[in-house]
Amino acid sequence: MRILHVAAEIYPLVKTGGLADVVSALPPALAKRGLDARVLLPGLPGILGGMIGLKPVLRIGPVFGAAVVTLLLGRLPDSGLQAYVIDAPFLFQREGNPYVGPDGQDWSDNHRRFALLGWVAAHIASGELDSDWRPDVVHAHDWHAGLVPAYMAQNPALKTATVFTIHNLAFRGIFPLDCHVDLGLPMRKLTPLGIEFHGKISFMKAGLVFSKRITTVSPTYAREICTPEFGCGLEGVLRDRGGDLSGILNGVDYGIWTPDDPVIAKPYNADNLKGKKTCKLALQSELGLSRNAEGPLFAVVSRLTSQKGMDLLLAALPDLLREGAQLAVLGTGDGDLEAGFRYAATANPEKVAVHIGYDEEMSHRFMAGADALLVPSRFEPCGLTQLYALRYGTLPLVRRVGGLADTVVDATPDNLQSDRATGFVFDDASRHAFGTRIREACALYRDEGAWRQVQRRGMVRDFSWDDSAANYEALYRSL
Ligand code: ADP
Repeated sequence: MRILHVAAEIYPLVKTGGLADVVSALPPALAKRGLDARVLLPGLPGILGGMIGLKPVLRIGPVFGAAVVTLLLGRLPDSGLQAYVIDAPFLFQREGNPYVGPDGQDWSDNHRRFALLGWVAAHIASGELDSDWRPDVVHAHDWHAGLVPAYMAQNPALKTATVFTIHNLAFRGIFPLDCHVDLGLPMRKLTPLGIEFHGKISFMKAGLVFSKRITTVSPTYAREICTPEFGCGLEGVLRDRGGDLSGILNGVDYGIWTPDDPVIAKPYNADNLKGKKTCKLALQSELGLSRNAEGPLFAVVSRLTSQKGMDLLLAALPDLLREGAQLAVLGTGDGDLEAGFRYAATANPEKVAVHIGYDEEMSHRFMAGADALLVPSRFEPCGLTQLYALRYGTLPLVRRVGGLADTVVDATPDNLQSDRATGFVFDDASRHAFGTRIREACALYRDEGAWRQVQRRGMVRDFSWDDSAANYEALYRSL
């Protein structure tokens, strides 16, 4: 079976979040199961520069405002899988973030940039762009690829199935209504039953309306997004499509996320955790934190936004500090939250350290060196960092939402007794609830034997891609 994955980012070439990790790991996991999986990506500088052996397949265009568009085919650097790249310098040769310009604003032509991605996918599906390869299923990821099923629906003879995966419903790909003229879609699609969304256009909605099946990245998030609290105004569409919507948990690439990875201070494993102590001391030194704290070292590796509950963390910081614990933050995001963490670090230099920035290697040292990872998200489609933390024996402390609820087993007395606990879970998005769970985590930390047990239980949990890939394969076959 031939599967074409369509996405805007892929680790390690271009990454702004978990989407990139998924797009780099899922296709190889499918290939391992014998499927013929390829990827289609926009020709951003990081992608053009990082692919191996790119060769032209076809010169297309001019389309979507780009005079020269060339479809290239090459291999991905890690997995060696084949990937198509759309080389359209006018639209994609821009340094930095794939979605926003240096001023922090969305690129004003994003609708054309990502329409091109969808349009090329549809034409690969129809066999017009590469006579040697034609997919049976096109799998589009997030709003960037939301127009894939809309363009494919334009060709009634095309039998290729479409799957659309929501990685984060909060980013809905919304554009003014008059952008419609640039998309090459008929007016009759511009209705509330089509891609119109409250007087605008939503690429995410296009994906939801026109794809054959919809998935999201955890079973709990699949239920949550059908409610007004989590549905971002699209809950009605999702409820209508309820029979075609399911949740498949993301996996982890344990080749990359393992406590003997090359960038941590000392390797360790579930049977011998001695190296973890060395990693903690190394991280404390690296960040200028005191090496004699009595409490645990909590870490955050995250976008610093209110979605991630980072304001809750600033509010609960006094609870954490009162326990003699430390906090290390790695992230970028909202200016006021960045400033809040910087201030906290200046005020508590031995106990709070903040690195504002995006640093892949440092994120591994955080996972290995911390005792616990804080993920107090207001909503969380799947979340990957808590899964990485589990493998590094770093206890996740998470809010009971989305994929966090599906992957962390709370250290209640019962779960501790039955050796099922892998972390800490709290319910209310409030300082009180979060602060209380932080204090309780600190109490468990003082019981070394109990803490070890939870660490070991988490480290041996298996969230590899094998199960997820099997679920996706079953979905494709059902189509
Ligand atoms: P989201 O995609 O919503 O940001 P996820 O938990 O699904 O959240 O994925 C986040 C990914 O980005 C993880 O791989 C995490 O390690 C990584 N990440 C987030 N912030 C940073 C940072 N400042 N430096 C390095 N990696 C980061």
